[in-house]
Amino acid sequence: MAIQQTLSIIKPDGVEKNVIGKVVGRFEEEGLVPVAMRMVHLSQQEAEGFYAVHRERPFFGELVEFMTRGPVVVMVLEGEDAVARNREVMGATNPAEAAEGTLRALYASGIEENTVHGSDSEENAAKEIKYFFSDVQVFSRS
Ligand code: ADP
Ligand code: MG
Repeated sequence: MAIQQTLSIIKPDGVEKNVIGKVVGRFEEEGLVPVAMRMVHLSQQEAEGFYAVHRERPFFGELVEFMTRGPVVVMVLEGEDAVARNREVMGATNPAEAAEGTLRALYASGIEENTVHGSDSEENAAKEIKYFFSDVQVFSRS
């Protein structure tokens, strides 16, 4: 295993539910420490660009509408095997299928409003981190 960085987003529903602190606290407990963090209200163009891989999916329009409905918290998390570990802590996309105790099982309202985003590969993590942060905004703590 190696130290990795991954992009995490607390989605608009997570901000609305006032669980920013709980989500960040959980990541810290799991050894996924924030090394960059800011709040941003995505424009339609920014959300469409971020989710460009899902452009052809039937839920793309709704997803962009949801992600632009209010501010989100974008973070870079750093830790051992951070990409996969973050996905484990998040749980399955659909909270009905998410393992007990995962963030989505605890806080998500449905398959769309599922509280957190996490990069799904090291390659996508690098791309997604660059989408929101410049090199000087990311502070390695390992
Ligand atoms: P994940 O976020 O677990 O990597 P995906 O990359 O497949 O999941 O999908 C991106 C996001 O699109 C999901 O987190 C969720 O917000 C939304 N989404 C996924 N599938 C659906 C669906 N069937 N209906 C509505 N929204 C969906
Ligand atoms: Mg995904």
